[in-house]
Amino acid sequence: MSKVIATAAIRGAHKLVERAEAELAATIKAKGKEAPVAYPNTAYYLPIMLLFLGQKVTKLGDLEGSLQEARKLLGRIPANELWLPYLGETLDSGVATLLAEEVIESLKYVNGTVENGIWLGFTGDNILRQQGIKLVDGRMPGFVAIAGATQKNEDAVKLIQGFQSRNILVFMAGHSKGRAIAEQLAEERIEMSWDTFTVPYGKEITAAIHALNFAARSAMTFGGVEPGNRKAATQILMYNKERVHAFVMALGEDEGVLDEGQLISDEKYATAAGAINFGFPVIADIPIPQILPTGICTYEHVVSGVRLEEIINRAIELRGMTIKIEEIPIPVPFGAGFEGERVRKEDMFVQFGGKYTEAFELLRMKPMEQVEDGRIEVIGPEVGDMKEGQAYPLAIMVEVAGRDFQQDFESVLERRVHEFISCAHGIFHMGQRSIIWVRISKEAAAKGFQIRHFGDILVAKMHDEFSRIVDRVQVKIYTEESKVQELLEGARKVYSHRDDKIGNMTDEDVEEYYSCTLCQSYAPNHVCIVTPQRLGLCGAYTWLDCKASFQINEHGPNEPVKKGETIDAEKGQWKSINDYIEVKSNGNLKKFNAYSIMEEPMTSCGCFECIAAVVPEANGVMIVDRDFTGMTPIGMTFSTLAGQVGGGQQIPGFTGIGKMYVSSHKFISGEGGHKRIVWMSKQLKEEVAERLKTALAKEGCPELFDKIATEENAEDPEKLLEYLQSVDHPALTMPALLG
Ligand code: SF4
Ligand code: ZN
Repeated sequence: MSKVIATAAIRGAHKLVERAEAELAATIKAKGKEAPVAYPNTAYYLPIMLLFLGQKVTKLGDLEGSLQEARKLLGRIPANELWLPYLGETLDSGVATLLAEEVIESLKYVNGTVENGIWLGFTGDNILRQQGIKLVDGRMPGFVAIAGATQKNEDAVKLIQGFQSRNILVFMAGHSKGRAIAEQLAEERIEMSWDTFTVPYGKEITAAIHALNFAARSAMTFGGVEPGNRKAATQILMYNKERVHAFVMALGEDEGVLDEGQLISDEKYATAAGAINFGFPVIADIPIPQILPTGICTYEHVVSGVRLEEIINRAIELRGMTIKIEEIPIPVPFGAGFEGERVRKEDMFVQFGGKYTEAFELLRMKPMEQVEDGRIEVIGPEVGDMKEGQAYPLAIMVEVAGRDFQQDFESVLERRVHEFISCAHGIFHMGQRSIIWVRISKEAAAKGFQIRHFGDILVAKMHDEFSRIVDRVQVKIYTEESKVQELLEGARKVYSHRDDKIGNMTDEDVEEYYSCTLCQSYAPNHVCIVTPQRLGLCGAYTWLDCKASFQINEHGPNEPVKKGETIDAEKGQWKSINDYIEVKSNGNLKKFNAYSIMEEPMTSCGCFECIAAVVPEANGVMIVDRDFTGMTPIGMTFSTLAGQVGGGQQIPGFTGIGKMYVSSHKFISGEGGHKRIVWMSKQLKEEVAERLKTALAKEGCPELFDKIATEENAEDPEKLLEYLQSVDHPALTMPALLG
């Protein structure tokens, strides 16, 4: 490795370890060695210490041990030693840097000095599960960690949108000469969040550790990398090299650097060296010394002096990412990176639906001769005829035809309309059916975005994603009040007909269920069995969806499984289903009960919408959703529970479920069903209220709904029990759940 880099990086590692030691000493002096230290919402302690040292840090005193290890690593490197880009000294110095940065950043949580405002800090395990899986299954081709800033704000915006339209996740940490790219984006009102694939960690370069502790946890969660193993460093390198395509981008020069030609700070070099340990190469717009031969990273380690306009393409080549750019004839960028983007009121040109006007979308199949492929019609005012700030009615009618298309596929395709439209930059889309809410931003309108472009998006994406069943697509979009009203009535009939169809289906009605093995990419022994009355635990697959998915692609993740002989009708156990899961779980499971939480319950991968768990004191179960960050009455947060429930093991008393299952008549019917629900997180209870109330009414216990406690009534078992007694909850007098 270049001598300049070697010296600067080793110097940087020393500086960071010294700083960490000083800050730790000061914090211990103020709070004592026993004071707790933790990042929020993680079961991985301080992930870098866990991964590299096998150390489960919980208190300040533990960090002394971590830094002693960092010192030892540094002690092994003679100062000014030529730094070779191979395992050995590089790893040592890089790991020392990572350990020091994890100390510095975790102390911010102890001392209450975490940067706020636009900075997001540490990423909790819940987000890791949702987003990390996208890196593993290829929905995101990789991530970039950017340190520094561009000269002009508009370059920063262009660069970030370039990444977003390629679905590349962007982490940001550090600054150059006091400017950080995240600040530039904030000035340009670019929304930064996990939803828009842009995550500002912190202004100091040490905050880059959050990108690496994210990668470390991904490797432990999804990659089976064992923490604390002496080979952890090599394993993580191998894992990230193959599975997580990431790189570091250094933008702009730093001030006050020591060596001529060094251009960026010692700490940044040290951090870059840490990233190289993860197999992440570095690309820079400034001419720092290059390291071109391939070694740890299978490609160049440091490539520099790349012009901003070329930097994304160069980085993609460098890291060997596979990128699918969507060619859709619309005047704004398009990609999953824009999917979660909101359009704020001040930035909005016009809107449709929400609480302002009627708006809906409907996808129907039509006979071949009635569909002219690619035809897009707008009936009513176009964007050019609309007044800024106003709300208009909207009906998006998609008509498809295909030799192998079936009516059951309609709702599967219709549900994707949201995702497809949301991927256009500057377009906000929420909801489905007749509760949609759409906004077109001023920026998109100024670029020439028209109503007809919704049609262009839908035609392109329906063909793209459903080529096996869709031969022709046409789209009619109405923005005329009277027409929208008239069509809405017809649409409502279609929606309720569909609801009745799956809603009225029972598990007894069908001879076969469907399996889903999509999550085996990271929970290799997990199989979801999806029945009409119990959807997949991620909430994304109903029985009808699985059926459609199988018909669309027989070699996909869903296939029909015969029920065979019934072993236990109450608990939901069938002979052929047992045989199937034994094979598909690699012999890990012999049997399971679809409607029981206590006896051989269904396993969970990790992406459950909710977790149901037994509350022993209350003789019932609680249900908590993924967004609830508070404490549940069994003394565990969602993320702690998730750590225990996931991974494809059967754990009596706990099961991951989809939200729709909560209102199913088969909800843990083996143990008495809905009467067992004693507690739900409030937001979840509100979300499922309508369906749950209907189900309870049918079961003859409509009063039960109000008896279910939320965090507002109780957060611990004692309070919960008091509450349940005060409302005379039926669970208290049911047969004992536990032996
Ligand atoms: Fe399929 Fe189950 Fe994973 Fe959902 S959670 S994708 S249903 S395996
Ligand atoms: Zn899953």
